[in-house]
Amino acid sequence: MAEAPKDEMPKAYEAGKVEQKWYKFWLDKGYFTPKIDPKKKPFVIIMPPPNVTGELHIGHALTATLEDIMIRWHRMMGEPTLWLPGVDHAGIATQVVVEQMLAREGVDRHKLGREKTQARIKQWAESRRQMIARQHQRLGASCDWGRERYTLDEGPSRAVRTAFVRLFEKGLIYRGERIINWCPRCATALSDLETDHKDIQGNLYYVRYPLEGSKEFITVATTRPETILGDTAVAVNPKDKRFKAMVGKKVILPAVKRVIPIIADEAVDPEFGTGAVKITPAHDPVDFEVAQRNHLPLVNILHPDVTMNENAGPYAGLDRFHCRQAILDDLEKEGLLVKIEPYGHSVGHCMRCQTIIEPIASQQWFINTKPLAEPAIEAVQTKRINIIPERFTKVYLNWMENIRDWCISRQLWWGHRIPVWYCQDCGEVTVAVDEPKACSKCGSSSIEQDPDVLDTWFSSALWTHSTLGWPDDTEDLGYFYPTTVMETGYDILFFWVARMIMMGLEDTGDIPFSTVYLHGLLRDEKGEKMSKVRGNVVDPLDTIAKYGTDALRFALTNDISPGNDIKLTPSRLEAGRNFANKLWNATRFVVRSIETGADVEVKQDTITLEDRWILSRLSGTTANVTRLMANFQFGEAQRQLHDFLWGEFCDWYIEFAKIRLGAGEGPSPLPVLVHVLESSLRLLHPFMPFVTEELWQSLRKRLPAGWQGHDSIMIAAYPEADKKAIDRKAERVMEAVIEIIHAIRNARAEHRVESNRWVEAQVCAGELTPAIKVYSPAIGTLAKARPVSFLESREDAPTENVLALVLGSSEVIIPMESMVDPVAEKKRLEQEIARSRAEVSRLEGRLEDKAFLTKAPPAVVAKERDKLAERKDRLGRLKQSLDRLG
Ligand SMILES: [Zn+2]
Ligand SMILES: [Zn+2]
Repeated sequence: MAEAPKDEMPKAYEAGKVEQKWYKFWLDKGYFTPKIDPKKKPFVIIMPPPNVTGELHIGHALTATLEDIMIRWHRMMGEPTLWLPGVDHAGIATQVVVEQMLAREGVDRHKLGREKTQARIKQWAESRRQMIARQHQRLGASCDWGRERYTLDEGPSRAVRTAFVRLFEKGLIYRGERIINWCPRCATALSDLETDHKDIQGNLYYVRYPLEGSKEFITVATTRPETILGDTAVAVNPKDKRFKAMVGKKVILPAVKRVIPIIADEAVDPEFGTGAVKITPAHDPVDFEVAQRNHLPLVNILHPDVTMNENAGPYAGLDRFHCRQAILDDLEKEGLLVKIEPYGHSVGHCMRCQTIIEPIASQQWFINTKPLAEPAIEAVQTKRINIIPERFTKVYLNWMENIRDWCISRQLWWGHRIPVWYCQDCGEVTVAVDEPKACSKCGSSSIEQDPDVLDTWFSSALWTHSTLGWPDDTEDLGYFYPTTVMETGYDILFFWVARMIMMGLEDTGDIPFSTVYLHGLLRDEKGEKMSKVRGNVVDPLDTIAKYGTDALRFALTNDISPGNDIKLTPSRLEAGRNFANKLWNATRFVVRSIETGADVEVKQDTITLEDRWILSRLSGTTANVTRLMANFQFGEAQRQLHDFLWGEFCDWYIEFAKIRLGAGEGPSPLPVLVHVLESSLRLLHPFMPFVTEELWQSLRKRLPAGWQGHDSIMIAAYPEADKKAIDRKAERVMEAVIEIIHAIRNARAEHRVESNRWVEAQVCAGELTPAIKVYSPAIGTLAKARPVSFLESREDAPTENVLALVLGSSEVIIPMESMVDPVAEKKRLEQEIARSRAEVSRLEGRLEDKAFLTKAPPAVVAKERDKLAERKDRLGRLKQSLDRLG
């Protein structure tokens, strides 16, 4: 063996020392920036932009890892590959965070004013933006930083205004009074998707409304009695015979004494409450529709801060929940409260701050989504866009087919301001991409922009094309659009993916991407969703510091499948770190074995059976990995690479090679060692980029000139399977050899054979015997077996006092006395049996003790019973072992 070279690899892998060095190297070389080549089809991923609200969490690390795997793989396949990073201003989410910061300083945003508050948010968002970029770099994300975008950048902002104006001009954006979800804390409207529905144990209140000019009553049931103040009718189902005579009559609203009609409407469920329901059009979406059909007026009873307004009469100024109690007290006094029943129902909460939302009719901007949804449905039905996993296709279609108009205005300050100006003189509404100087109708310069901003998802919906330069006809847009894969969590399929498909098709006439890959959500060891509240979040940077980036990436993607949730456990992280160390040790061995100027060419005429085996397995693994990657089965691809590298190459091929190198005769295994290692590192590079680059560079330096290839593994070619290398015979023989060694090792461990003791092995392998026989010295060395002999047939084998191991394609017979010294073993077993008996009788005694049985909790008793059964079983097995010794 050669002398250790001066620049020998350190003994252990220290991820922290190499990761940042290689990232900087890649960045400096410009490898992340694609070259536009019109002859080649590019591979493009637009990164889901993280919110500028904070630091990256483990979910972002998963997104970055999966996308980087795809990007690095396609780049190595020679495709122009663009991964465009960016961040999202995240309207409400960011504003809430900064408001909370301001509150801690004792500052109220309304007192600070719009401009100053915006400046504070902007400053904070900018610092977060830089931090997010740095964190992505720590994760190894090979994205093109030169093309990084921010939703509030001038380009994407102009795209937002352009899209708005175009939709408005097509009549697809309108302003109207609708019921929206109002968060009183955030003081803004929210879309349906931004409200969490929680089941609440509330009450159902039965209230009597007196009929006008009569002593009769009609009783209605409600969960929100304060909304009585906003009622404009009582409704019954037209088919409900009980109320037939009442329809058309009038009732006097309790508390405020307004006179309202009793009407009939199909929407009323005769089974709910008494069958007669109150209609509060300004505060309930169903009632709003009833009111539209029946031309009922809207009476809004709430101020934006959800205190009661002037329409609430004597209750004006009260908070909504205080008002509820006050009304109940008054109804009680007047004898109008019939009964109260406990009632479980679902109540909307603000997703951001968890305040109970209030449905309120208000003037908002909406998108009429039906016409946009039609082509988006068709694109998925016709498979122009594929959703992985397939089961989400149905979820998508179902939502799109029942889509409701999208409320896009938000009463916030942080975001894209709605490009609409109102003339103070003639009332004209001007909708324009660029700020107008004067009213388009009367020329007055007294115009005011709509104070609201757009829902943050509006700009996100344009992200695939706004980042590439739309509405301008840029080179990037022409070349990189439509993009290839949209990879994101299944939890934002509707928020984001569906809207990108609608807006991509609307703005560009083409789909935004051809594949949607949805990953699962991360959970902790117990399967709980990770959240700050639960305190089970895993911080990616802490994890990287402890285990290394590659180990984190390995843990995140090992064994995952699309759409299924992932449990991130410390043992997975350890497995990742151990794998990196295993590769380090293997490479260190190979590198040390390469003599200066050594020939590393694999020559077909001098390779041995085990060489043919590992080359065949490399070819098979390469084919499988490539097929799995093409099918988005990254978890399984990584598992197969791991199993091949660890379980075949490191554990077996290298062990055989050590024997050959030690013997110093016959053809050297070095060319095959180098070839398999080098190819495997390239195969693994997309998954574990740092350790593979470090090892590949260490190996490369030791190779003869002319063999060194590219400057970096990340631009080297991804291996292709060599079909000619497949050798079933070699695989069968080596599998049998490995199985034999394995079985002898297991038998030794089971029987606690001392490590320096040789055991005898007789092998019966039928037609494989001649091929396996060649490996008897290796079997001997690796299983510590001597002598290893081969039997012509099973009949020749002794049957008394032997351990017979029946394997897949062979049988191994080990005489018992070669494993254990019968006298010493007998003594050991007898001692064990004595100890075991004592324990059994102690447990039996305990379980017969009445005091114990009555006092101890049942679970403790059951545990003791299980223990006894287990100990008895062990005693039985010990006795059997003793009997076998004779
Ligand atoms: Zn809120
Ligand atoms: Zn005007």
